[in-house]
Amino acid sequence: YFIEQDQFDGQTAIIHGDDARHITKVMRGKNGDKLIVSDGVSREAMVQITHIEASQVQAEVVEWLPMDHEPRVSVSIAQSLPKGDKMELVIQKCTEIGAVGFIPFLSERTIVQYDAKKEGKRLERWRKIAKEAAEQSHRNRIPAVYESRSWKELLASFDSYDLVCYCYEKEDGLQLRDVIKPLAAGLSADESASVLVVVGPEGGFTTGEVQAAETAGARSVGLGKRILRAETAGMVALTCILYETDE
Ligand code: SAH
Repeated sequence: YFIEQDQFDGQTAIIHGDDARHITKVMRGKNGDKLIVSDGVSREAMVQITHIEASQVQAEVVEWLPMDHEPRVSVSIAQSLPKGDKMELVIQKCTEIGAVGFIPFLSERTIVQYDAKKEGKRLERWRKIAKEAAEQSHRNRIPAVYESRSWKELLASFDSYDLVCYCYEKEDGLQLRDVIKPLAAGLSADESASVLVVVGPEGGFTTGEVQAAETAGARSVGLGKRILRAETAGMVALTCILYETDE
């Protein structure tokens, strides 16, 4: 369970809300049961329940655990907003695989209409999915889900990554491996790097967008000879990057 930093001092962890209900109602937890809690930042431990109520569970540290389940290359996925609930699939699966962040964006051929009124609720749901998937797959950190941004805003953020790749289905272009292999080879054992993977909408990127991405310093990468669905491309790129760089 992920809990807030201020609910987890050197010895005692306090679990509230949905997680407490999950422990009491679903897991039928009782005093003495062991759980794993993490503050998602720097502390993770095996704890033992000492007090239990429907809305709050208190537990004491039994053993500190190493936080070594995160990949050394931090991959964020920028995804042109896909139709329906496809973004949920992207967040859930890429969290399991090891992404550290998600940036939904709007591009020229994005099909869904952006609705500012729905953004708050949607973001809340996406963050919940990221948290649950992170717990499920024993991540040490919950990936961040950012507010939707425009293509222009996305381009402006490229500078904050060591490498930006945009997935582009051009058969004669550079493949992802051609860009990742040199990155992996250049990293010594204790070095890390940040990579942003940019995935286009169902209808693909326009040539104008491709040019703008190049100008902003991104590398065009292919993911093989087959055309993938928009929601599949990020999972594939992420898997390949971690395969090449994860020790
Ligand atoms: N333009 C295409 C399909 C776009 S697929 C068409 O309409 O036929 C949606 C997105 O997935 C693309 O913008 C791209 O970012 C990514 N993508 C899908 N297949 C890919 C591949 N083989 N290589 C790289 N990127 C791919």
